[in-house]
Amino acid sequence: MIVQTFVQTAFQQNTRVVSCSNTGAAICIDPGEPSPDVAGYIRDEGLDLKSIVLTHGHLDHVGGTASIKREFPDAEVLLHAEENDLYTSLPQQPLMMGIQPHQLAALGMDYEDPPAATRFVEHGEVLQVGDLKFEIRHCPGHTLGHIVLAEHDQKTVFTGDCLFNGTIGRTDLPGGSYDRLISSIGEQVMSLSDEFVVMCGHGPDTTVGSERTNNPFLTGLYQLGS
Ligand SMILES: [Zn+2]
Ligand SMILES: [Zn+2]
Repeated sequence: MIVQTFVQTAFQQNTRVVSCSNTGAAICIDPGEPSPDVAGYIRDEGLDLKSIVLTHGHLDHVGGTASIKREFPDAEVLLHAEENDLYTSLPQQPLMMGIQPHQLAALGMDYEDPPAATRFVEHGEVLQVGDLKFEIRHCPGHTLGHIVLAEHDQKTVFTGDCLFNGTIGRTDLPGGSYDRLISSIGEQVMSLSDEFVVMCGHGPDTTVGSERTNNPFLTGLYQLGS
């Protein structure tokens, strides 16, 4: 497995191209913005982009979907059904953040309507990409339809905005719930073994073991829930 990371948008989001070293089959997880770098990398490496997988629908994770889908029209667009309303609201998301319509272009936030999902992924399904197998796990709490992707042979989990190095995702946005996020992380991420590498939607990688020991939201140091 080869993971190439592109830090994108003002939110420093980690867009990833993940490919099978044996076959060149690849997925792009969370294309944050239109980027010649991502498309160029896929072409230069001769990768076969099978899918664009969206952990969730926030603009910094999906803003590049239309562009990459245009470059690679055969790639599927995959997300969880409960995330579709947020995903399709992409052009409105900056306005919900309080940005004024006349500011959108200057900020690079004048988003077009994103391409329709090819299909919706479900909790427990396995996405086969060459020799890689990504188990889809529904992990709500940051948003309603957030998913994480676990590759068990490679001991790697892509956690989007659920779990970060030393912290957790925001729960104050629409669809967010602190209690739901904490139980999702416990059931869907911390249930993996300690050596799993955690590749987060923002910031540096970590491991399940490190978070189990050090993350104050998981050790019980911060107990903000009911
Ligand atoms: Zn988010
Ligand atoms: Zn994010």
